[in-house]
Amino acid sequence: MSDRKVNETTIAALKRNFPLIDKLISTEEVLWINPKYEKYEAAIQKISLTGADARDAEDRLKRFAPFLAKAFPETQASGGIIESPLFCIENMKDRLETMFARQIRGKLYLKADSHLAVSGSIKARGGIYEVLKHAEELAIQHHMLTEADDYSVLATDAFRSFFSNYSISVGSTGNLGLSIGIISAKLGFRVCVHMSADAKQWKKDLLRSLGVIVSEYDSDYSIAVAQGRKQAESNPDNYFIDDENSKDLFLGYSVAAFRLKKQLEEMNITVDEKHPLFVYLPCGVGGAPGGITFGLKLIFQDNVHCFFAEPTHSSGMLLGLMTGMHNDICVQDLGIDNITDADGLAVGRPSGFVGKTLENLISGVYTVRDEQLYILLRTLADSENIFLEPSALAGLPGAVRLFCEEAGKQYLDQCGLTDKMHNASHIAWATGGSMVGMEEMNSYYRKGCELAKKFNSV
Ligand SMILES: *Cc1c(COP(=O)(O)O)cnc(C)c1O
Repeated sequence: MSDRKVNETTIAALKRNFPLIDKLISTEEVLWINPKYEKYEAAIQKISLTGADARDAEDRLKRFAPFLAKAFPETQASGGIIESPLFCIENMKDRLETMFARQIRGKLYLKADSHLAVSGSIKARGGIYEVLKHAEELAIQHHMLTEADDYSVLATDAFRSFFSNYSISVGSTGNLGLSIGIISAKLGFRVCVHMSADAKQWKKDLLRSLGVIVSEYDSDYSIAVAQGRKQAESNPDNYFIDDENSKDLFLGYSVAAFRLKKQLEEMNITVDEKHPLFVYLPCGVGGAPGGITFGLKLIFQDNVHCFFAEPTHSSGMLLGLMTGMHNDICVQDLGIDNITDADGLAVGRPSGFVGKTLENLISGVYTVRDEQLYILLRTLADSENIFLEPSALAGLPGAVRLFCEEAGKQYLDQCGLTDKMHNASHIAWATGGSMVGMEEMNSYYRKGCELAKKFNSV
């Protein structure tokens, strides 16, 4: 990574051009509004991916539904579709309003990917999708499957034995490894997960119990990915899932938008010019929030406003978008340590693919302190009885921050939304949590209580 380090002269110039960088360096919480944000019609022209690509991913997941229902009985009730509920969280909204001494205009919802079947995080969308797509390609290539078949045959020994000739590898801070490991092992693939230092012990233990090879690194996510990529190159039967650049992961995530549209309709929640939708998405390397943003933009166009949320110590996507340097810069170049308890978001260098693809479609990015994540964890548990992992709380303060911060108010003004906000829907995307063990979750909760006391938070 040292060969990619940005030099001092460039950094000095960046600091002059982007005064916000000083706040990033001092790890203050900030809200950055994207000056390159454009109307949908103009922005979508510049992107190579299309609605047809997203629908292709949706169709593929439908083909795989009979397999998933058979291989993972917990998905039987939904017919093999892995999807999460959308909750209205009025109590939490009240608490946020008191905490921040500010009214949130509009309704507040939680999209509970924390409770997705199979792997308990947002990674159950993209990660599982990419492995399924690879499996489908191999099986079709070898004349073992056609798209018209009932895909539940993939849950038989004949297929498991076939897939055992192939391996899959991935670099991860934890949850991506978990989702890839679980689905790959189920299909019969040999699978190797390269885990960064952030990854929790229980995730490594769980994977090993499934026969997954877990390689551990003392370093951060970028190194784990680089190592995985290097090892994979030497083996032609290995398929490397590249979280920093994968279009398949991205498209797997985008399918969430079609599903959300249906849920909103079922709940009689209108999204149109007079009823704007705001979505707040926790961001690590960018694939998950990016893919979902892409899908939402395809559907709701200018009526949806997507904000990414990052830890103050891992503000890589904000930095990459703001400077336009994307993956040519990382937080470590500024002396920021990329150390956060929000392990799912502990990424210092953002995906260049995601940043470049969405640079005209993301409304903004804000950062959140770790202490705040713990306090919100405890507050959500107390007010709604929903338990999330620290990363997943990053989306929660988005709505209130929009009304508190000058940049947020200006954004609403510029989009002509200030007088429509009483009709707004705000969705905090809760990205993980249900697989965290009780003991670990209790310790998060206690930490939240202590911090709330220390900071005198309601
Ligand atoms: C991975 C992850 C994210 C963010 O996804 P990226 O694709 O890395 O941006 C958010 N929350 C949790 C819990 C995650 O595991």
